Amino acid sequence: MVPHQVAIIGAGYAGLACAVELARHGVQVTVFERSHTLGGRARVVAKDGHRLDNGQHILLGAYSELTRLLRTTGVSPKTLERLPLLLHVPGELHLQAAHLPAPFHLAVGLLRARGLAWADRLAMLRLMRGLKKRAWRVEAAQSVAELLRQTRQTPRLIRLIWEPLCVAALNTPAAEASAQIFANVLRDSLGAHTAASELLIPRIDLSELFPVPAARFLAVRRGKLRTGTAVEGIRRENGEFFLDGDPGRGGYRQVVIATAPHHAGALLASAGDCERLAAQIDALPSEPIVTVYLALGDGVHLPHPMIGLAGAPAQWAFDRGRLGGRAGLVACVISAHGAHEALSREELILAVHKQLEDELSRRLPAPQWSQAITEKRATFACRPGLVRPGCRTPVPGLWLAGDYLDSDYPATLESAVRSGTAAAERVLRFAARTGH
Ligand SMILES: Cc1cc2nc3c(=O)[nH]c(=O)nc-3n(C[C@H](O)[C@H](O)[C@H](O)COP(=O)(O)OP(=O)(O)OC[C@H]3O[C@@H](n4cnc5c(N)ncnc54)[C@H](O)[C@@H]3O)c2cc1C
Repeated sequence: MVPHQVAIIGAGYAGLACAVELARHGVQVTVFERSHTLGGRARVVAKDGHRLDNGQHILLGAYSELTRLLRTTGVSPKTLERLPLLLHVPGELHLQAAHLPAPFHLAVGLLRARGLAWADRLAMLRLMRGLKKRAWRVEAAQSVAELLRQTRQTPRLIRLIWEPLCVAALNTPAAEASAQIFANVLRDSLGAHTAASELLIPRIDLSELFPVPAARFLAVRRGKLRTGTAVEGIRRENGEFFLDGDPGRGGYRQVVIATAPHHAGALLASAGDCERLAAQIDALPSEPIVTVYLALGDGVHLPHPMIGLAGAPAQWAFDRGRLGGRAGLVACVISAHGAHEALSREELILAVHKQLEDELSRRLPAPQWSQAITEKRATFACRPGLVRPGCRTPVPGLWLAGDYLDSDYPATLESAVRSGTAAAERVLRFAARTGH
């Protein structure tokens, strides 16, 4: 029997998850990637002699599909630093989950927290208990800001915990963010058992974490990976798919479009019969993320591997030296649109350096080198009531994968890989049903 030939467009986390799942089931896959680097929006960037991630990424212990795929592709669990849930804002707040089963890890953590008044602690418990009682369901049209108002959260909690958590998790400011998706994230972090609420931070670069092991996994299973190959369009002839830009010119029985939403629309439209779906995907709003790297020298450490910042422009800072990286390298994250977009690169780096000095209350050395990496369309804006498509398209055998597809989560590595395995399941079922 001729093995099923399946093409996957995009070697980000979604496309590679799909490819690994299909290869595991004996399907012959060819993955097309326009870049020479694997990983898409979670990749290593070589700049001025330094290898840096395009953005600092945090995972949650609850990311079960990604951790399963890491195991499948032989990745050591040691590549992820596991940190107990800790929110530390220098001089303002220290809240650490206790080493106890849920819900005591949070309750005891709250009791021991520094920088919160009783009114803050009670308000936090009110929100968490209220959400749990409603089975973590809120009105579809509600924003995070409205949820916080409705549950009488204090200004201090909003400023130090909810706003920064919301923008970190959903990459969307609380006033515009979906309360339902935020509730899902809270359910699987603060509201979940202790291991699920842990933060997992990659100790190696994002291309090495999963994309490179996934590529090795494919190579030994006759999978093909064509990097530096952009697919320009999809044609259908006699029940097979042909891809413009494919040097092999092969006919594929099924195709998975696993690109970011801003690239998926045009590819879909080129296949015909998908114009409405393409327009729906093109209309998804997006938000940027900037990561500012400051190399401050061996002697500089942050008080914790990850700290919150109360001011602006950055919301979080990571001590890469304590996370498998170079000593003294600090990564500062600025999520979503904001006033920082009016600054030049140099002004932004200076502003972040000054912010760190102010918030750590100490002078820092001038950076030995610095980088500001901007991802203009880092994720979709996770607004209330946003209609996210599923992985089916109107064309039989043509599927979608990607972090923007309908899921419980905002745009994350977990939603990307879940969409990839979901697309693989569809491909397998379709092949079984039609012989394709
Ligand atoms: C700066 C930043 C910080 C983030 N922080 C976090 C975080 O802390 N935690 C978290 O879980 N998530 C985070 N995310 C989100 C996460 O990175 C994304 O959700 C995830 O990487 C999306 O994966 P994907 O496979 O769906 O899409 P992509 O990664 O965009 O992959 C699509 C791939 O398709 C390729 N492609 C596009 N068009 C074509 C074509 N025509 N032909 C061939 N190839 C094509 C692209 O080059 C790309 O490699 C962050 C994202 C950014 C940008």
